[in-house]
Amino acid sequence: MALGTASTRTDRARTVRDLLASGEQSYSFEFFAPKTAKGEHTLWNAIRRLEAVSPTFVSVTYGAGGSSREGTVRATERIATDTTLTPVAHLTAIDHSRAELRNIIGQYADAGIRNMLALRGDPPGDPMGEWIRHPEGLGYAAELVRLIKESGDFCVGVAAFPEMHPRSTDWDTDIRHFVNKCRAGADFAITQMFFFPEDYLRLRDRVAAAGCTTPIIPEIMPVTNVRQIERFAKLSNAAFPPELAERILAVKDDAAAVRSIGIDYATELCARLMAEEIPGLHFITLNHSTATLEIYENLGLHQRSS
Ligand code: FAD
Repeated sequence: MALGTASTRTDRARTVRDLLASGEQSYSFEFFAPKTAKGEHTLWNAIRRLEAVSPTFVSVTYGAGGSSREGTVRATERIATDTTLTPVAHLTAIDHSRAELRNIIGQYADAGIRNMLALRGDPPGDPMGEWIRHPEGLGYAAELVRLIKESGDFCVGVAAFPEMHPRSTDWDTDIRHFVNKCRAGADFAITQMFFFPEDYLRLRDRVAAAGCTTPIIPEIMPVTNVRQIERFAKLSNAAFPPELAERILAVKDDAAAVRSIGIDYATELCARLMAEEIPGLHFITLNHSTATLEIYENLGLHQRSS
């Protein structure tokens, strides 16, 4: 599939649904809202550098990793108004009443944002802690998909889990609930990070076998330092390849070597997935641009987007 031209990629009012339907493989980046002025500077530095490669869209997480929810709304609005990028605003149902959710959706609509990622969210501090529904809120992401769709002409994405959602007890139920989110109106899905291509491909086959054709974009997280091995496994529940951990730990005192192994692994994972007619790749950037740009370049995407 061909990569889109810069002109088709810079209309921020376009929906991810339309961009994916164009038949071009999509390339997108995920940011989080910073808490400090220094973090803000780092984020905007990354946004400006990544804007230059004309990604299909960029997304901003909502209250994840301790970032403030107001910060997410501000950062997403600024991307919509100050850049050529198409922003996707993440939104989580946890700890919000329906009225609060409608209010946030309204703020996004006022800023011209048409794409949202509807998530249930996890209890703060412990992702597997007891999930308590807000007394006037929602219980599952499917309900948030419906609420957003009722609130305006939005394109809505949802989360998908190549290794099954950690709260799911079996695959059949997990897939049934995923398909319900799609039938509630989701236009696309983005996966949790994963390290084995087979996990993504199996999920895609299971969803297809259930009669659901919603495009599922794989999320890629390049490992660039030793601390991330444990951190990612804890945050995402994703199985970390023991062979990769071993190679990284063997050079743990050489930061450049660790980074290079992580980037090579992510490049190979992307190349393997791209050979499988995936709808696109979504890169977690952690608000930095260099690792993502290196992978982009390794895959030959850098020249194709310029
Ligand atoms: P749901 O689809 O509601 O599923 C949650 C669990 O409930 C699953 O086990 C599901 O099978 C089950 N279930 C669903 N419907 C029913 C039903 N009707 N009856 C019984 N069980 C049901 N977190 C943040 O805080 N901020 C972010 O910005 C953020 N961004 C993310 C982006 C991506 C791409 C991904 C993959 C995750 C992100 N997360 C974020 C983490 C996310 O909030 C958690 O992984 C959360 O647990 C995901 O829930 P969900 O939206 O899939 O919920």
